[in-house]
Amino acid sequence: MVETDGGGSMATTLTIDIGGTKCAAAITGDDGVHNLESWPTTGSTENLEHAVAYYQRHLESGGSPAVAIGVSFGGPVDFRTSTVKRSVHVPGWSGFDFGEWSHKTLDLPVAVDNDAKVGALAEFHHGGHDSDDLVYVTVSTGIGAGVISSGRIVRGVSNEAGELGHTRVSEDPKLCSCGRMGCLERMCSGYWIEQDHGRPAVELFADEEFLAEYSRMFARGLSNAILLYNPSVIVLGGGVSRVGARLTKSLTDNVSRELESWSHMVPVITTSTFDRDGVHLGAKELTRDLF
Ligand SMILES: [Zn+2]
Repeated sequence: MVETDGGGSMATTLTIDIGGTKCAAAITGDDGVHNLESWPTTGSTENLEHAVAYYQRHLESGGSPAVAIGVSFGGPVDFRTSTVKRSVHVPGWSGFDFGEWSHKTLDLPVAVDNDAKVGALAEFHHGGHDSDDLVYVTVSTGIGAGVISSGRIVRGVSNEAGELGHTRVSEDPKLCSCGRMGCLERMCSGYWIEQDHGRPAVELFADEEFLAEYSRMFARGLSNAILLYNPSVIVLGGGVSRVGARLTKSLTDNVSRELESWSHMVPVITTSTFDRDGVHLGAKELTRDLF
């Protein structure tokens, strides 16, 4: 992360990250992420008031005006209309129109997408993976994926391609928040493993037996993504990815077993190298489509 006062290149973007527990804003230019500021998530409008105040301070300190706003949102978004579809992990946002909000406040063009697609764009453009076919999987409260295929983000007809967390990986009748049973998210997300086992995720992953069973289940979901999208690399992000090499090694072993007949398709499975700045780099990339 580049830290400078009032920094940013000429083509700066106001980037905003809206997550379930934390929000952040930054001024992101071609030269990196500047003056990143985060705060605990509160009500929907309050978070955006915070972001507007942040941007006004940036201008008052002599910073370059932004040419656009890029927003990463922790839930399903209609990219074409910049509108939130549903509040899932981030409450109080259903139907929120970011275009209308921007028009009334900062009067800048705005692009919004869900955190998994934003993460995929960050990895594709800035992750150094040298791949045009990449799947980014974020594993924290929920599980979502962003898919880059032949150098383009895959959106689908309603911008919901990549809902890997809600593909079924188990006959276990555990009910997912989406209403289905045995979803990858229900079996493997950080929230649900803590609920099911009554222990913090960090403790669970220290247990080799838990890690082996977890990886076996998670590998089913990743194998589905591999068979559908044939990526050369899968990048894991979100809190669970901090388990690191023990997790990626175990997942690679299990995916190799799942895909024995397609062993040539087994991709590199790695973790994101970005800290808090990745989401802002991705949010800036989102705004490319505005010009
Ligand atoms: Zn589900």
